[in-house]
Amino acid sequence: MGISNYDISSTVGTLVSQRLVRKLCKKCAKKREFTEKEKNLILQIGERYNTKFDLEGKYTYDAVGCKQCNNSGYYERIGAFEVLSLEDNIRELIVKGASSIEIRNEALKGSYRPLLVDCINKVIDGITNLDEIDRKIIIY
Ligand SMILES: [Zn+2]
Repeated sequence: MGISNYDISSTVGTLVSQRLVRKLCKKCAKKREFTEKEKNLILQIGERYNTKFDLEGKYTYDAVGCKQCNNSGYYERIGAFEVLSLEDNIRELIVKGASSIEIRNEALKGSYRPLLVDCINKVIDGITNLDEIDRKIIIY
């Protein structure tokens, strides 16, 4: 965009990304246990992003469809977010022209948690499900 790495690193304080995900319709969502495949996927994502997900005693829901949700199985939306604070270590990497992977790995050592991690937390909390997350971010 014609902006130098130095300009970005010296002027940007915090980066926020957001996706809107559909919430499950509470009237018709069907509760069930996570499959082994789903559990493994979630644990893999956790490993990739240095995050521990606790699936103990947690359930997921299938979208079914009813009159309230116009047969979609989802009703209303919620924002999933990631916040990246540009601390000194991140600024240095940007000035050096580091790759996005290097920057991400460094940020994960601090408070940064990726969008996908926020999405998975919303799945574990039963707000949405993996099918919906997969429509917004490729996870499989
Ligand atoms: Zn419904």
